[in-house]
Amino acid sequence: MNRYPNLEIDLKKLRHNIEKVVERCGERGITVAGVIKGFNGIAEMTKIYEGSGVSSIASSRIEHIIRARKAGISGPFAMIRVPMLSEVDLVVEHCEFSLNSEKTVLDAINEACLKQGKRHGVLLMADLGDLREGYWDKEELIQVARYVENQLPYVDLRGVGTNLGCYGSIKATPEKLNELVELAEAIEMGIGRRLEIISGGGTTTLPIVFDGTVPERINHLRIGEGIILAYDMMAQFGVDMTFLYQDVFTLRAEIIEVKEKPSYPVGELSYDAFGQVGEYEDRGIRKRALAALGKVDFAYPDMLMCRDKNIEIMGASSDHLILDVEKCSGEIRVGDKVEFDLCYATMVFATSSENIHLTFKE
Ligand SMILES: *Cc1c(COP(=O)(O)O)cnc(C)c1O
Repeated sequence: MNRYPNLEIDLKKLRHNIEKVVERCGERGITVAGVIKGFNGIAEMTKIYEGSGVSSIASSRIEHIIRARKAGISGPFAMIRVPMLSEVDLVVEHCEFSLNSEKTVLDAINEACLKQGKRHGVLLMADLGDLREGYWDKEELIQVARYVENQLPYVDLRGVGTNLGCYGSIKATPEKLNELVELAEAIEMGIGRRLEIISGGGTTTLPIVFDGTVPERINHLRIGEGIILAYDMMAQFGVDMTFLYQDVFTLRAEIIEVKEKPSYPVGELSYDAFGQVGEYEDRGIRKRALAALGKVDFAYPDMLMCRDKNIEIMGASSDHLILDVEKCSGEIRVGDKVEFDLCYATMVFATSSENIHLTFKE
């Protein structure tokens, strides 16, 4: 018998999404790193990436990659958060390549390679305005590229990359990515050979891949959300992602109380459990249901999406979700299960919550 809350993961739908994105990117000469951090590197899901056409499996957490290796998945693996100095040994041990932006770390990678008798590939990151990781000073980037090429015998400079739409919400445009191509070409001048990889971002670059305006030399993307959920791009940017499944995940929660109650709190308003003053609309007496899961499992109640559009999410505390079921299609009873779709923000928590029981549909 299933335990609740339950997160059902449809592995067939995931495989479909991976293969379709790989195919659409392939038409433009772009290979795809499958990014597994959004679902906490759940090994059963990571396994689906193997042999589905991605050129590597990538995460910002070395723990996910170690877990995948322990599960017998063979990679190649990429570390896509610039490595902590303290994890360089693990990154060299478990990953074929990593994204980098600090000379000190590159030196440490070279040392670790020497110690382990290995080689390690690197992409140098350029910050084109999103203001997260990467070299801001382009001259410095070109110099460090030359340094890696000539001074670090065990480190292979495989290319350059950038990140857009993460912190600064900067849009991936052909102009932005042309800046990256120009940088790559300046590096190529400096080292006297062609770079293998020009990595033009993540899911937010997909729209210009689909409309064909992505610069030709961009030949690599690191795709998380656009494969796993393919929801946020559609909801926020109006990109047509209907050729993918938006329901790889089904979150089910059990109802533990159903009662008629006022919709406006009764008494003096103060702070809630998370130190906030709530906002409440007085709709009179309504039929309400409590579901047995809470913010600990999804963080943002307003970003959970109930599949029954007649059920309204009113709010949550750490372990309770409060639903307005006045208009619910059928009678709701204690013990019933309610289904939700996830978006990126709720997926990262739901897949990391130890209280949520996973089941896999093959
Ligand atoms: C998370 C991440 C990605 C993938 O982002 P999505 O929006 O999920 O496609 C790509 N590159 C880096 C550096 C990341 O940290």
